[in-house]
Amino acid sequence: MTVNLDRFSQGLPDPQNVAPLQYCHTCGGEIYPGEDVYVIDGYIIHARVDCLVSYVSPGYMTIEEALGVA
Ligand SMILES: [Zn+2]
Repeated sequence: MTVNLDRFSQGLPDPQNVAPLQYCHTCGGEIYPGEDVYVIDGYIIHARVDCLVSYVSPGYMTIEEALGVA
């Protein structure tokens, strides 16, 4: 799976002077004004693939393992 994370590589403009509005439910990281977020089951998390996958915690395996034929 290829995911374009270029927009996250730039960081935010000097967040040191801004208090976070919220903390990510998944990673516990700070969420600053202007950041994109996902809202799942009422929880606010970073709009990042890793935070989303960590929240969902899907089983990761081969298709054979998933079908029990491995
Ligand atoms: Zn997060």
